Amino acid sequence: MAANNQLAIDGGAPVRTTPLPYGRHWIDEDDIAVVAQVLRSDFLTTGPEVGRFETDFAKSVGAAEAVAVSSGTAALHAAVECLGIGPGDEVLVPTLTFAASANCVLYQGATPVLCDVDADTLLLAPEAVERHIGPRTRAIIGVDFAGQPCDWNAIRTCVSQKRLPLVADACHSLGGSDRGRPVGQLADLTVFSLHPVKHVTSGEGGVITCDDRARAEHMRTFRHHGITRPPGAEPWNYEVTSLGQNYRLTDVQCALARRQLTKLEVWVSRRREIAARYDAELASMPGIVPLARRDGIGHAYHLYVVRLPVSRWRVSRDRVLAAIRAEGILATLHYPPVHLHPFYRARLGTAPGDCPNAEAAAQEILSLPMFPLMSSADQDDVFTALHKVARAYGR
Ligand SMILES: *Cc1c(COP(=O)(O)O)cnc(C)c1O
Repeated sequence: MAANNQLAIDGGAPVRTTPLPYGRHWIDEDDIAVVAQVLRSDFLTTGPEVGRFETDFAKSVGAAEAVAVSSGTAALHAAVECLGIGPGDEVLVPTLTFAASANCVLYQGATPVLCDVDADTLLLAPEAVERHIGPRTRAIIGVDFAGQPCDWNAIRTCVSQKRLPLVADACHSLGGSDRGRPVGQLADLTVFSLHPVKHVTSGEGGVITCDDRARAEHMRTFRHHGITRPPGAEPWNYEVTSLGQNYRLTDVQCALARRQLTKLEVWVSRRREIAARYDAELASMPGIVPLARRDGIGHAYHLYVVRLPVSRWRVSRDRVLAAIRAEGILATLHYPPVHLHPFYRARLGTAPGDCPNAEAAAQEILSLPMFPLMSSADQDDVFTALHKVARAYGR
């Protein structure tokens, strides 16, 4: 009995010997078959699969346009570039996110203004938007943290006088919705990632959705070196009309992503099932509190984030996290706030104290394993590990 109770971090036997990751892709034989088919075709990079994937993706979120690019980071860059943002401009970005949400602004020579988040949902706070909007503000980037859509209506109200464009970093929220409207239609431009830990994958990849054909065409030109063809020109007669990039997504990747997309609905339901089981179990564990959720949203649960209230533990969150991981449950942290990284402190002059809600949350949060392929037995192991660690360290 004593041996079972001893934490693995103190030399006891771990709950699992094969570690459970926090997220993982799901590749079936049918995914492999479509990739093999492209490998036998005439096109490896830009071919017919790109347009097919874009059409299916746009349809799946109910947007008029979808533009496929080489990563979520490239998608963020294309969105910011397409809005004409450049030196001297400011873009508001929440600080509790992955660095790429802010870097896209810097790529254009503009300045990201890192904003605090709501203390409960950890989504970009409309109050912070109001506080930080200034004469140089040109756009707002919101992050649908963990898979919960931002309160885009409230944010739109804040910026209505200035009619600033809204960019959703929806890398966490594909398959989510707000009052029945799918993510992909809630902001002016919506950015997705096809990285393997995200909802559907192409290895690396990204997508931007919007309802504006001219913007979509601009981003398609941007992903391919700024190259356009004068109407009626010969195939060899191309023109570079703006500064572009090579941000193309290949036919191989588009075929894979398109196949994966057919499973999105089932996978999001499975994520919600896993979340409901976490909710039920954690209801009896006061030391581990699920993140607050907004009314009326369809959560896409890229992550299942919990808070460990400091008052409920005798040790730090880092120690709890290390102990859970030692049990073979690879929970992790999303994210250290962007404004506290050395690079942004040096470049933007940010400092501790700038974003108190995000900083407090960053001391208490962790992400539990969440992916559709995870079994009920896997989740039982998570519960066993959480109870074991709570018995040892909780108060
Ligand atoms: C994954 C992610 C990105 C970057 O996507 P990549 O496809 O890895 O470039 C950007 N923002 C957020 C919030 C993400 O989770």
